[in-house]
Amino acid sequence: MLRSVILAASRSSRVERVVATAPFSRDVVRRFVPGTTTDDALRATRELAAGGLAVTLDYLGEDTVIPEQAVEIRDAYLELLTALSAANLAAGADVSVKLSALGQKFDEQLAYEHARSICVAASEAGTTLTLDMEDHTTTDSTLDILTKLRTDFPNTGAVLQAYLRRTEADCRELATAGSRVRLCKGAYSEPESVAYQSALEVDKSYVRCMNILMSGEGYPMLATHDPRLITIGADRARWFDRAPEEFEFQMLYGVRPDEHARLAGEGYTVRVYVPYGGQWYGYLMRRLAERPANVAFFARALTSR
Ligand code: FAD
Repeated sequence: MLRSVILAASRSSRVERVVATAPFSRDVVRRFVPGTTTDDALRATRELAAGGLAVTLDYLGEDTVIPEQAVEIRDAYLELLTALSAANLAAGADVSVKLSALGQKFDEQLAYEHARSICVAASEAGTTLTLDMEDHTTTDSTLDILTKLRTDFPNTGAVLQAYLRRTEADCRELATAGSRVRLCKGAYSEPESVAYQSALEVDKSYVRCMNILMSGEGYPMLATHDPRLITIGADRARWFDRAPEEFEFQMLYGVRPDEHARLAGEGYTVRVYVPYGGQWYGYLMRRLAERPANVAFFARALTSR
């Protein structure tokens, strides 16, 4: 219930104005978003690399409605990739891109072209691009664009969401050689017709999907903070004989940082999803929706002023 209310608020521009201008917001945001500029992204990449962690960097933005905004977001990625390369930080890094930020909602071809320009720059910098997955109305379009991008950039990564009923079938399609697939639970509010509603059903689906990916020929990226799923992931790696460089764990910046370090210390590949930029509102609200304790953290920041 609370989750649905927060996710509904994440799409309200009225609530966004209140939250974004509130004086307490900066401290709360800082826990999940290391900064707004390319330099902030580089600093976070350096700090995480020093702890043995890889990154995927996300320039925050979504649901772009005008072409100029889409160009601005594309250019931010191009600037980031040039800077990563110049700072010798590109090797092993990845960028995460939301197609809705590049115009997918009003012009799919435009979003494809912008994503392709970012793939070209990523390839020149020696790094890769992963397409984030958004709400279920965009899944087919995102997977179609993925297929087109993979023609020239076969290492372009996809994200599949275990809460969608279709995802086991999508995992089977994508568990092929050279394919990079991030498996997450899913962060949006979805109807019962397309998505499992209970945590137990989502977890069971996650395990079924993980089995398909870990036994397949692609490169699975297990994106979860859930201790049980992480244990099962490590177990499946042993069972299917996957070495640490043949799959990875992924977690969000600011969420369970001790666990990032523990897994990296045990020799696993761990990649941290690092969002940066000024458009943090939708991202922050999804993080709050995931965990009631985060709402309490937010409320404490509000009442301590
Ligand atoms: P949960 O059951 O939500 O959490 C398990 C435990 O993890 C909790 O008990 C708590 O201890 C801890 N935890 C989880 N979330 C938080 C939090 N916000 N703050 C503090 N502790 C927390 N979703 C999409 O829909 N599309 C994407 O493209 C996408 N990309 C992602 C990329 C990465 C690298 C990660 C890690 C997640 C991504 N997600 C994406 C979000 C994902 O779908 C989930 O909403 C999110 O990861 C929470 O699910 P969980 O698997 O961690 O399990």
